[in-house]
Amino acid sequence: MINNILEFKEVWKTYGDDRTKITALKGINLELKKNSLNLILGPSGSGKTTLLNLASLLDSPTNGEIIINGQDTSKLSKSGRTKIRRNRIGIVYQRANLFPYLNILENIMLPMISKDINNASKTLNKVGIVETSKFPDEISIEKQQRAALARAMINDPHLIIADEPTGELDKKSTEAVMDLIIKMKNKHTILMLSNNDDLKEYCDELFLIKDGYLQKK
Ligand code: ADP
Repeated sequence: MINNILEFKEVWKTYGDDRTKITALKGINLELKKNSLNLILGPSGSGKTTLLNLASLLDSPTNGEIIINGQDTSKLSKSGRTKIRRNRIGIVYQRANLFPYLNILENIMLPMISKDINNASKTLNKVGIVETSKFPDEISIEKQQRAALARAMINDPHLIIADEPTGELDKKSTEAVMDLIIKMKNKHTILMLSNNDDLKEYCDELFLIKDGYLQKK
C-alpha cells in the first residue's frame, strides 16, 4: 500500500545558462501523506511557483526525483507527464480562471474525462453550488472559487494543488473555502502554497520555503 501521494527526493531546479543561472530550488525533500492537508509558506520569490510547476508535472527538475503515487515521473515523456496530470492531479489557482462564455456546469465539464453530467452536477452541489447554468460573472468571487475547487476534483485526482487559493477572498469567504478544502481531505491529498500565515491553523503539516530551501516545521 502506498502512503505517500507525492514525494520529492533531493530536487533541484535551475533556470538560465551558466551566465544567467538562477537556482530556484535547492535539494528539496518532501513527503505528502495520503489524505493530509499540507501548507508550504514562503515569501514572494522563495520558489513556490517553481515547486508547483514541478509537483504538477508542468515542468521537470534539473536534478532529483518526483514520485507521484509510487511512480517516479523523472523518466516519463512529456505526454506521459500530461496523462498523470490529467488523471491524478487537480490544480486551483488564486483566481478561479473560469471561462466567461461557458456556464458553471460547462466550465467544470471541460477537463472532465468521463463527461458525466450527473456526476458534474453532484460535484458542484458538494461545493455548495446549485446555480449550475449561471455564467461566472453572475456568481460571487467566493462561488467562482468553489467552482474552481469542483473543477479540480472532477477527475477524482489523488493530489490537489492549491496556489494561494484564498488570495482574492475576504476573511469570511476564506473560512468558507478553507472549510471545503478540509472536507476534500477525505478523498484527496492537498498541497497548498501561500504567503498568508493565517492559513497555518488549517493544515496538518507545515513547511517553510525560503531562498529555494524547504524546511518542515
Ligand atoms: P515564488 O512563486 O515564491 O514567488 P518563484 O518560484 O516564482 O517564487 O521564483 C523563485 C526564483 O526563481 C526567483 O528568483 C525567480 O526570479 C526565479 N525564476 C522563476 N521562474 C523563472 C524563469 N522562468 N526563469 C528564470 N528565473 C526564474
